[in-house]
Amino acid sequence: MNVSVVLFTSDLRVHDHPPLRAALGPRNETVPLFVRDPAVDRAGFAAPNRLAFLADCLADLDRALRRRGGRLVVRSGDPVAEVCAVVREADADEVHMAAGCSAFALHREQRLRRALEADGRRLYVHDGVVTALPAGAVTPSGSDHFAVFTPYFRRWSDERLRPPLAAPRVVRVPPGIRSEALPHRPDAAAVSAGLAAGGEEEGRMRLAHWLDHHADAYEDGHDDLAADTTSRLSPYFHFGALSAAEAVHRARERGGAGAEAFVRQLCWRDFNHQLLAARPAVAEADYRSRADRWRRGPQAEDDLRAWQEGRTGYPVVDAAMRQLAHEGWMPGRGRLLTASFLTKTLYIDWRAGARHFLDTLVDGDVANNQLNWQWMAGTGTDSRPNRVLNPVIQGKRYDPDGAYVRRWVPELAGLRGPSIHEPWKLTGSERAGCDGYPEPLISLPDGLARFRRARARD
Ligand SMILES: Cc1cc2nc3c(=O)[nH]c(=O)nc-3n(C[C@H](O)[C@H](O)[C@H](O)COP(=O)(O)OP(=O)(O)OC[C@H]3O[C@@H](n4cnc5c(N)ncnc54)[C@H](O)[C@@H]3O)c2cc1C
Repeated sequence: MNVSVVLFTSDLRVHDHPPLRAALGPRNETVPLFVRDPAVDRAGFAAPNRLAFLADCLADLDRALRRRGGRLVVRSGDPVAEVCAVVREADADEVHMAAGCSAFALHREQRLRRALEADGRRLYVHDGVVTALPAGAVTPSGSDHFAVFTPYFRRWSDERLRPPLAAPRVVRVPPGIRSEALPHRPDAAAVSAGLAAGGEEEGRMRLAHWLDHHADAYEDGHDDLAADTTSRLSPYFHFGALSAAEAVHRARERGGAGAEAFVRQLCWRDFNHQLLAARPAVAEADYRSRADRWRRGPQAEDDLRAWQEGRTGYPVVDAAMRQLAHEGWMPGRGRLLTASFLTKTLYIDWRAGARHFLDTLVDGDVANNQLNWQWMAGTGTDSRPNRVLNPVIQGKRYDPDGAYVRRWVPELAGLRGPSIHEPWKLTGSERAGCDGYPEPLISLPDGLARFRRARARD
């Protein structure tokens, strides 16, 4: 009888799970293990919304394993020490896990390999579990990563993804392995009221429903803020409750322009991961510095707070920020225009915005969050680093009759049509109807002029 340990990290599922499938065999036993690492909490990644979603995912994974005769073993502590302890308890000779892309994940993997090898055991690290295509599987000539999306997308699309793996039918766990209780959701007061439920079962149901009912509207409608037609699957991909590779297969099988556009977005996810894997420092450092001297000091801090709380006086920005607070999630168009407003109009460091998103987003992750922030701040891979999204034009284009703003900004709920995006221009009773809504923090020409001056300096 071979005994192994499967260490779950950002891959909380039983379908299309290469480490689990590799560990199992007709005569094998395995310990499915999740380790709660206090270093993740200390680094500020244990935000309440993500802890709540994580608790859902772990409970769901445990249920899925129990249906197959197994269970999830949970430990808290340093993952290397905990894996080694479980390996000894189970007398396992190998450990399987998914390859990660962040500096944190790579360091954990190296430490674990050394510790296991010193003890005469083996670590198997499986690629293409967290992303559809492994980071680094395709590279341009002369570089270790793609810095431009379109050529990456071309190469990525030509690659053959491994076929999705079925969930195992039976999982045999050796008896007597100690487990802590599954983690609870944090206090409801700390979690966004409208947070989605986590877990693989929920994620698979949502993917199937979205592909059947909404994919066709996606290509033309994904930027329509009020229509809300994007998949909302990002948290399930973030926790690995859904496999990105399987989602690509299923979308391609379904076919159509909407499904293809969805696949292209999943390629953006892989693009960011391959970039982070090659340049781990971009989690904090500019990918391409523009020598910015971002605003600091009490006024900038007040402006940052107003942005965080949805009080900038720009309705579409405030609507998106309030949705973020309520749901722990925001649509892609909202993320783009709020990030542009913070970095280009208020000229506040992208790291402050990225931090707030990481504190709040249920899907918040280093690769997608930091690199999308850098894209918008013009310090990343955007070939037009000085582009600015004007929040009035964005509002009129992507929320033409104001339904999105009315949904999230009750002070403006009495207004109709595109004028909702410029409440400061209203007069008379219409103006009186927006009582309590703030004046704009800054005039757009002033913000733009400051940004242009700052970027022209160097
Ligand atoms: C400033 C900023 C911060 C962001 N932070 C995050 C983050 O922390 N975590 C995160 O998963 N995404 C992040 N994104 C990317 C993107 O906005 C979200 O993934 C997407 O809006 C989630 O909604 P959805 O699942 O309905 O996406 P859909 O439009 O349905 O797309 C399908 C999937 O493709 C992936 N995807 C879509 N757009 C992008 C993109 N631009 N970059 C990378 N992957 C993408 C996601 O996994 C998404 O679930 C950020 C974007 C910006 C501009």
